[in-house]
Amino acid sequence: MSTNDSLGEATDAAQDAVLPIAPLDAAEVTQWDIETDVAVVGLGIAGTCAAISAHEAGARVAAFERGGAGGGTSALSGGLIYLGGGTPIQEACGYTDTAENMERFLLEACGPDADADKVHAYCQGSVAHYNWLVDHGVPFKGEFCDEPNREPITDAGLCFSGGEDSWPFNTIADVVPRGHHPQFPDTAGGFLMECLTGALAKTDVAVHTDARVERLIVDAGRVVGLVARVDGRDLHVRATGGVILCAGGFIFNEEMLARYCPEALRPFSAWRVGTDNDDGRGIRLGEGAGGTTTRMDSVECALPIGPPHRMARALLVGKDGKRFINEDTYTGRIGHRALVDQQGEIYMIVSEEIFEVNFVGMRITWAAETPEELAADVGLPADALAETIATYNQHAENGTDPEWHKEPDFLVPLRPPYGAIDLRVDSKAIYAPFTLGGLNTDPDSHVLDPSGVPVPGLYAAGRSTAGIAAHGYVSGISLGDGSFFGRRAGESAARDK
Ligand SMILES: Cc1cc2nc3c(=O)[nH]c(=O)nc-3n(C[C@H](O)[C@H](O)[C@H](O)COP(=O)(O)OP(=O)(O)OC[C@H]3O[C@@H](n4cnc5c(N)ncnc54)[C@H](O)[C@@H]3O)c2cc1C
Repeated sequence: MSTNDSLGEATDAAQDAVLPIAPLDAAEVTQWDIETDVAVVGLGIAGTCAAISAHEAGARVAAFERGGAGGGTSALSGGLIYLGGGTPIQEACGYTDTAENMERFLLEACGPDADADKVHAYCQGSVAHYNWLVDHGVPFKGEFCDEPNREPITDAGLCFSGGEDSWPFNTIADVVPRGHHPQFPDTAGGFLMECLTGALAKTDVAVHTDARVERLIVDAGRVVGLVARVDGRDLHVRATGGVILCAGGFIFNEEMLARYCPEALRPFSAWRVGTDNDDGRGIRLGEGAGGTTTRMDSVECALPIGPPHRMARALLVGKDGKRFINEDTYTGRIGHRALVDQQGEIYMIVSEEIFEVNFVGMRITWAAETPEELAADVGLPADALAETIATYNQHAENGTDPEWHKEPDFLVPLRPPYGAIDLRVDSKAIYAPFTLGGLNTDPDSHVLDPSGVPVPGLYAAGRSTAGIAAHGYVSGISLGDGSFFGRRAGESAARDK
């Protein structure tokens, strides 16, 4: 084989990994191995909630999970679920919220370009969704944890998880926490999925594990089933109500990342948020059957600055030596801005007085007696860094931050000696990216074709879709919209059976 041939093959393989997966025509199926009303692909939070809801709406349901058990990325997660509008947990913690207040916040925080119809449906249905989760075995405790941005390390039930209490959001909506944490100490995603898998086990949904869905089956433009690879053979599954795609995102598909959001490939010590099974297959199956995608360039990136939240007393600067954000905002917002707007070239500036090692062990990289010396060591423009620190200090003395509106609790003038922490994307800093784009769905979880019309028999939810978070993110919204729109997918498919 010549070099050119092997290059050609490599290019073909890369193409193959991003292209829509063509469906099988029902006319080619000689035998149906399984017949059901609704087939669900993937048993993370979206698929599990879809399967339970389709069953409760009266459908026969078969679910196909390529792993040895359900759970997916959902089971690895922190377990925070973004809920509000006046849930019993918010009330127990002394917070008053409304669906309208929640909607004002989410439209801004998850934008620009947040899907207004989905945000509206989600906020209006949020208290009922909380009750549904509780009724299906997920407990929450009426206790507030005042350390924001990640799940509480206790079993407390509520925390700020999206920068609600910081600028600009505290000027847009009443300040209310909405990160709901299942009653389990610390990382609660595994517990959350145990609860929901327990609820699924009480139904007669037929669960097939080690069953990788390879293709959809169509009949005259309608999705009527799927092909699943089980024990080395293809099972042909007829699903008269249709198929619900809940197979996760594409953070582990290098070719899709390179095509749609190459910045997600940059972090040197990336903690990709997902599992190997987030390979984009669910999205490509949907595209092959006529579905469209949206916001495929959108990527979220956590950059753990805290806990403790006291680290927000530091300054964050770009390679121009200037601040680019209020440091007390949601750390996922900081990570996104750092990776996308600052091209991953950021540094944290601290003084000895305020520095402490955070929960991921962040250490000072350079130290100096003056801003100019520090700038020289780091390679930043000395005048700009000195000006940034001097201006910040001058206002911080008076408890104000006219430039970025950091809250007074975090305004401490920086005094020598100074330190700088290397948070560049190609350093050892932890950037944790995952994809937000996916199949274009309506609020009832139908997958839409290029003219905005539902593809008959095709539904989707979770990170196989573009959900509530458009180009901004809040912690808890993935498990939140995955479970919420998963339920809606199950109800829609059962209705259409
Ligand atoms: C460390 C960490 C912490 C996080 N913390 C939070 C948090 O606190 N709150 C929050 O909202 N989000 C959090 N996230 C993100 C969140 O977990 C995911 O975005 C969410 O779980 C996605 O849910 P899903 O149902 O769409 O996908 P998944 O949970 O990944 O489920 C998809 C399932 O589909 C299966 N599958 C894939 N392809 C196929 C196929 N071809 N055939 C059959 N089955 C298939 C997979 O095996 C998997 O089980 C966190 C993620 C991580 C990794």
